[in-house]
Amino acid sequence: MSTGAAPTRIGLFGGTFDPPHVGHLVTAVNVGHALSLDVVILMVANLPWQKEGSRELTDAADRLAMVEAAVADVPGIVAGRTEIDAGGPSYTADTLARLAGEHRGAELFTIMGADAAAGLLSWDRYEEVIAGSTLVAVDRPGAQVPLPDGIEWIRVEVPRLEVSSTDLRSRFADGRPLDYLVTRPVLEVIAERSLYGARPDLWSRSDAVRT
Ligand code: ATP
Ligand code: MG
Repeated sequence: MSTGAAPTRIGLFGGTFDPPHVGHLVTAVNVGHALSLDVVILMVANLPWQKEGSRELTDAADRLAMVEAAVADVPGIVAGRTEIDAGGPSYTADTLARLAGEHRGAELFTIMGADAAAGLLSWDRYEEVIAGSTLVAVDRPGAQVPLPDGIEWIRVEVPRLEVSSTDLRSRFADGRPLDYLVTRPVLEVIAERSLYGARPDLWSRSDAVRT
């Protein structure tokens, strides 16, 4: 955390993280670096209301355990459980208000990937998100995300890794490799908790292939 007069700079990177992958981590690390953030919080949605009903979500506690494992050895990135502790549907406007209360005087940044940024105007009380934080849109090098008009954004270019949780879930389902798309500590949690239909020896099987 900062010392002296400069306010603490906190990045809020929200998601379902079902599961968390290297695209999330590369984004968090690079935005944190580019904007000199003291910390980036990977905030695990309790009930992502925009995804509700579209498919069965992994339990919030399991998604939190995966994110905690993903960031355990990553300086400056932490797992956030504010939305899980609050319960119910998760709204970034509420989360920002809670963070502002917990970290008086901090400067808050709401970090959004391309799809999230493009959909900002569909968020519940998006005006509060705009008023309560600096918006950060993650661009891929050389290609700018089209953003809603009339709103101020900071754009940060991050190497774009074409990986999504949706693709990872289908990889689990049909047994394709997950190597280098999900970090080892996350795979260990997935195996221990038998998530996504994974067998407990998920990782040891990969090890056997590698050695
Ligand atoms: P799903 O496929 O289930 O929608 P996802 O991979 O998009 O999952 P989310 O948890 O929905 O992950 O996304 C959380 C945040 O991470 C969003 O702001 C999203 O835009 C961003 N994000 C997702 N994938 C990437 C990626 N490969 N690179 C950078 N940002 C990403
Ligand atoms: Mg998504």
